[in-house]
Amino acid sequence: AKRDHRGQHLQFAAPMGAEARDRAVLLAELRAAIENADLFLVYQPQVHLDTGDLIGLEALLRWRTADGRLVPPDEFIPVAEHSGLILPLGRWALETACQTLRELQTAGLAPARMAVNVSVVQLRDPGFFDMVCAALSTNELQGQHLELEITESVVVLPTQLLQSTLNALRAHGVTIAIDDFGTGYSSLSYLEQLPLDRIKIDRTFVQQLGAPQGGRVAEMVVQLGRKLGLQVLAEGIEDATAWQTLQAMGCHDGQGYHIAYPMDKAALMRWLAQA
Ligand code: C2E
Ligand code: CA
Ligand code: CA
Ligand code: CA
Repeated sequence: AKRDHRGQHLQFAAPMGAEARDRAVLLAELRAAIENADLFLVYQPQVHLDTGDLIGLEALLRWRTADGRLVPPDEFIPVAEHSGLILPLGRWALETACQTLRELQTAGLAPARMAVNVSVVQLRDPGFFDMVCAALSTNELQGQHLELEITESVVVLPTQLLQSTLNALRAHGVTIAIDDFGTGYSSLSYLEQLPLDRIKIDRTFVQQLGAPQGGRVAEMVVQLGRKLGLQVLAEGIEDATAWQTLQAMGCHDGQGYHIAYPMDKAALMRWLAQA
């Protein structure tokens, strides 16, 4: 009875607000978009800062609505995560990214690997490891061809299951990057608790490089990563100065508009053929 009472109280105290209604509408639209194949991936090159050599591609989701508007992933990924829709959506993104890498290999244009963003919600799904293995083998890829970028947009503490899933993936050759390091919910404790290969420096820290003493956080993250034996990749490199500064700090790799914009598959193939 107490439970009922509390439930009722909550219901009256917090009727479905505008925000919740918007989220419900967005969710319905996203479901339809998945069915109508209105989602696609774009790919952004990642390079080695010392040589400029291409080391990989990051796959990023795009949603084009019927009226031609592009909905940014920051808007729909959280909705997909909270509803569980991230499971089929994330699976589609992973399978499509693997298929693209295979096509690039067949065309003789392949970079070493494809990086795919995964939500912690996906990682905690018991079927995740098998799904990744199936996506790789269907496309005749090895674990080394895939990197998973862990992004946090919901608070989820590392669990035994998460750790063992990451360990199994790494035993399979898949590498793990922690995304947007230093922002949001990612924290120093993750570095100790999660088996990782790479830290990605969030672009907000890279953008501060131009300001007086603005590079201190970026430099600290580079040193921290190196000390832990991890690869460090800076995102959001928008000019040659940022590239040079990060390289001088000892940052291994980078990506950003100065190197290349995220491109759809056709544009990517042209870019790779010219590079
Ligand atoms: P992210 O993983 O941190 O991706 C990097 C974002 O920075 C991308 O935004 C990219 O387009 C943008 N970017 C790249 N270079 C530059 C630059 O030089 N300057 C600036 N200002 N921005 C740059 P995007 O594509 O809008 O993606 C936003 C976020 O959505 C991603 O952040 C990621 O967290 C999430 N996301 C995208 N695709 C997926 C996906 O398939 N699954 C999951 N779970 N999340 C995804
Ligand atoms: Ca990412
Ligand atoms: Ca990032
Ligand atoms: Ca981000």
